[in-house]
Amino acid sequence: MKGTLFVVSGPSGVGKTSIINSVINMLDNVVFSVSCTTRPPRPGEVDGVDYFFITKEKFLEMVDNSEFLEWAEVHGNLYGTPKNFVQENIKKGKRIILDIDVQGALQVKRNFDEAVFIFVAPPSYEVLRERLLKRGTEEPEALLKRLDNAKWELSKMIEFDYLIVNDDLVNSIQIMKSIIVGETYKTKRVLTEELIKNLFKGVTDK
Ligand code: 5GP
Repeated sequence: MKGTLFVVSGPSGVGKTSIINSVINMLDNVVFSVSCTTRPPRPGEVDGVDYFFITKEKFLEMVDNSEFLEWAEVHGNLYGTPKNFVQENIKKGKRIILDIDVQGALQVKRNFDEAVFIFVAPPSYEVLRERLLKRGTEEPEALLKRLDNAKWELSKMIEFDYLIVNDDLVNSIQIMKSIIVGETYKTKRVLTEELIKNLFKGVTDK
């Protein structure tokens, strides 16, 4: 089967990472695209697993060498998707999940119309604010920036193919799993030239 790119976006703190991690554990043949970022690691984050934590100089060098499928400045830091990883895994027939911001998703949309775009929204703005506060990973100023950016991100959800309102994590995980499985079995993805050849080999008109 052909590989498929799943682009997951939504405001910071909405629960994308938790949903994606669970889905990856439940399904075979699904890989996570580890992004590069200039943001410093949070406690517990591992280089090469959560992100490739790199300097701004290195990031800009990679931009110059066209090594990113997309990249963007998000909440004051740079984030980018390494192109090689995606291209290699598409060839291998993998289902690749990108956890990227809306600007990045819209860039991918311009170049990869075959990708599947999933937006994760909070049930309300107030719930998002509470979740970000509870997570406690940002300083007050950074937190305000993330909440402010969320308004613009929410205004773009209409551009996405699927919308998951994350008011119940277990339910959201099931929905994302169903989307990935359903998309995988679309005729355009299953029907390869080899399958057509096998199906019609030896068939004669009678
Ligand atoms: P965080 O700093 O909370 O890990 O991520 C902040 C935002 O950056 C999230 O919305 C996340 O989806 C997004 N992000 C992570 N990696 C990438 C990437 O490679 N490209 C883009 N455009 N956004 C990314």
